[in-house]
Amino acid sequence: MAVREIVLIGDPILRQKAHPVERFDPELRTLVRDMIETMRQAQGVGLAAPQVGVRKRVLVFEIPVDEDDEMSSSVPPSPWIGKPFALVNPEILEASQEMEEGIEGCLSIPGYVGEVRRHVRVVVQGRNEWGKPRRIEAEGFLARVLQHEIDHLNGILYVDRLESRDKLYKLEEEEETAAPA
Ligand SMILES: [Zn+2]
Repeated sequence: MAVREIVLIGDPILRQKAHPVERFDPELRTLVRDMIETMRQAQGVGLAAPQVGVRKRVLVFEIPVDEDDEMSSSVPPSPWIGKPFALVNPEILEASQEMEEGIEGCLSIPGYVGEVRRHVRVVVQGRNEWGKPRRIEAEGFLARVLQHEIDHLNGILYVDRLESRDKLYKLEEEEETAAPA
């Protein structure tokens, strides 16, 4: 496993559409392991392959249990919280009409957060790193992270979705970026 370098805004790869994965091989699993390690080291909650310079439709996420406040009342609790997961070739199958604003950061845009409107609930389908189908019904923070990461695979950054420039906030140096993805 290795921590990879995170690509920053301004790099053209963040603006390109990533390619579908065709082979679920050891190289893919090494990429997933490295992405999880890189995300953890950067204290992020999600990471997309273009953010480590790889133009493939792969994302990883790991939502801490305490970030799951909005869903804590839901029964049963989401199985997608509290552990790292990979999603390969993800597609959003369904998205709620209902939207909500929330604060997002991005590991490729250090020092800033923004208030972004996202679907409250999404159903996402993809595969795991072994090629097994994976279907995630997400709401709240997890739904937000998945939408953020899938945007990365399409060359979209959260700053593109801000309703206005005053929804972007510069962090003070001592402030930690709140759960960047
Ligand atoms: Zn991001």
